[in-house]
Amino acid sequence: VFETVPQAPADVIFSLTAAYKADTNPNKINVGVGAFRTDELKPYVLPVVKKADAILFNDPSLDHEYLPIAGTPSYTRAAAKLILGEESPAIKENRVAAVQTISGTGSIHTGAMFLSKFYTKSRKCYISKPTWANHRNIFELVGFEVEDYPYWNPETRGLDYDRMIQTMRNAPNGSIFILHACAHNPTGVDPTQEQWKGIAEVMRAKGHFPFFDCAYQGFASGDLDRDAWAVRYFVQEGFELFVAQSFAKNFGLYGERAGNLTIVGKSPADTSRVLSQIEKLQRSEISNPPAYGSRIVDIVLNDPALYAEWKENLRYMSNRIIDMRKQLYDRLVQLGTPGTWNHITDQIGMFSFTGLKAPQVKVMKEKYHIYLTDNGRISMAGLSTKNIDYFARAIDDVVRN
Ligand code: PMP
Repeated sequence: VFETVPQAPADVIFSLTAAYKADTNPNKINVGVGAFRTDELKPYVLPVVKKADAILFNDPSLDHEYLPIAGTPSYTRAAAKLILGEESPAIKENRVAAVQTISGTGSIHTGAMFLSKFYTKSRKCYISKPTWANHRNIFELVGFEVEDYPYWNPETRGLDYDRMIQTMRNAPNGSIFILHACAHNPTGVDPTQEQWKGIAEVMRAKGHFPFFDCAYQGFASGDLDRDAWAVRYFVQEGFELFVAQSFAKNFGLYGERAGNLTIVGKSPADTSRVLSQIEKLQRSEISNPPAYGSRIVDIVLNDPALYAEWKENLRYMSNRIIDMRKQLYDRLVQLGTPGTWNHITDQIGMFSFTGLKAPQVKVMKEKYHIYLTDNGRISMAGLSTKNIDYFARAIDDVVRN
């Protein structure tokens, strides 16, 4: 019965990691996958996560019962507060709901599924060009017509703001726009606060629906509030919106799949009806969310001392990344590598969009055993004081030749 099933292409990022693992060259570098690494290039278990682990381990009341369909209330409440802020008018007015999801991907999928069934204003969903590949996959899967909005300007190596706004103006009224809350993946370029205000103004005039994807809160700038600024601004401006939150990066809980979908509605009654439908969808998709990762996050977000320690751990991660940006920039300048490299230090978050083209990426891989995606994106966390000289020399070589 499956003779006619076509072969699907392999996932780019996961294939890259497999090729890296199979490579036996001692100089090999993986800057493909967006996972934090220490300066020894080892995975990082946050010290605060280890403490929460110990609390869980020693808790005699802990069992393995099902969680509620929408997840653990103390976790979802804390997650919503984390992104919307303590003083959020929407929380005070009781028009916020939150649902525990399978990390950020599950959150986007759950929100997309709900919109595909109940959002009647438009069938169009706009994603930034470029964006995280799963945005298109997810929204196409649930039946939206997915369009791009311009985002990256290769000439300025920055935001293509004017064309982005133009596309928002020309889009059919009520379109859905996926917005990266902070630390845009893959470009590392975020709108300024002034630009966010301009984006909000057009979105309001056109009645577009903002769906924020927030996979890097606190990881981008080291400051949880600053990274939430855009979302909070939209809420303050009275938008109804969704925010998909992932705790993969900022808690280092990649494989534990701790996520949350925060819903901001116009009224408590609207929000409660939306929540009821999302719970119904969740029941048929996953029945109820996995417990372990969310328990860790729940413990940390709801304990002031652990919360303060988490912020320290976040600062360590974001500072290491900022330091690698500076070190790479300094080396390229020292080497006199042709071109300008300010974008490396200007960009924020996990990734840098180097400007390398696909043929150069190929040489990086074949000659230097350095693994990155064809669009020239590098994960800064794959660099360390040990490999950065080699990496900078490789870039220098491929740019010159
Ligand atoms: N959105 C963006 C932009 C991302 O980069 C990621 C992680 N790569 C996610 C969402 C969600 O990832 P996860 O499902 O692992 O939380």
